[in-house]
Amino acid sequence: MIIVKSESDLLKMRASGKLVATVRDTVAAEIRPGVTTAELADYAHELIEKAGATNAFFGYRGFPGKVCISVNDAVVHGIPDDRRITMGDIVSLDVGLVLDGFVGDTATTVMVGVTDPDVMRLVRVTEDALQAGISAARVGGRLTDISSAVQKTAEKAGFSVVRDFVGHGIGRNMHEDPQVPNFGQPGKGAVLRQGMTLAIEPMVNMGRAAVTIEDDNWTVVTEDGSFSAHCEHMIAIRDGEAEILTRGEGA
Ligand code: MG
Repeated sequence: MIIVKSESDLLKMRASGKLVATVRDTVAAEIRPGVTTAELADYAHELIEKAGATNAFFGYRGFPGKVCISVNDAVVHGIPDDRRITMGDIVSLDVGLVLDGFVGDTATTVMVGVTDPDVMRLVRVTEDALQAGISAARVGGRLTDISSAVQKTAEKAGFSVVRDFVGHGIGRNMHEDPQVPNFGQPGKGAVLRQGMTLAIEPMVNMGRAAVTIEDDNWTVVTEDGSFSAHCEHMIAIRDGEAEILTRGEGA
């Protein structure tokens, strides 16, 4: 069942979205050569707790990390550890929290001294795919209008979208109905209504779409070893343009 949020619930989601965007951007600004992914995760956790929120990822279904940090060929769900970031890395940072009963969930991919034009293009196209998905999220439209817009943007650029992991409805729970795939024909699935809240999160691979899970049982990596980028916004369906709840101050 898809939960349509009331205006008072949307106010709370706006607050959780704003906070999680601030944590994302504050930690993203610290991603530089030499820092470990565990240090970044600890910083995110500290910011979440200082703000009076709860970390939504830490311990979620047994996830051992405080945020998900997925570097280079890692797609999503990377576990922070003592790996040091180096020049040329792309780093997906995915943060989740609960504030006043509502979840905030957002991700960005940061380039660290990247000079390879194809890698730069991968990250930009992934951001473009997210924006295309958001633009396709219209009252009266259908869920897969979003999926199709994401897929077309990624594939037109010669990249592929991951099919094994998808975006999701969000609210009092991190994963609510409906699932939001990053692929598919438009015009299918739920009719979009004002007050639905969705997390749209393209995962775009430079090579093939296939992924596999590492021995840690969490980290999703591309099967062919190609780089993968990931970004995520939480949106509320509105009359006209959808409202981006995790836009952040800088964007
Ligand atoms: Mg998510």
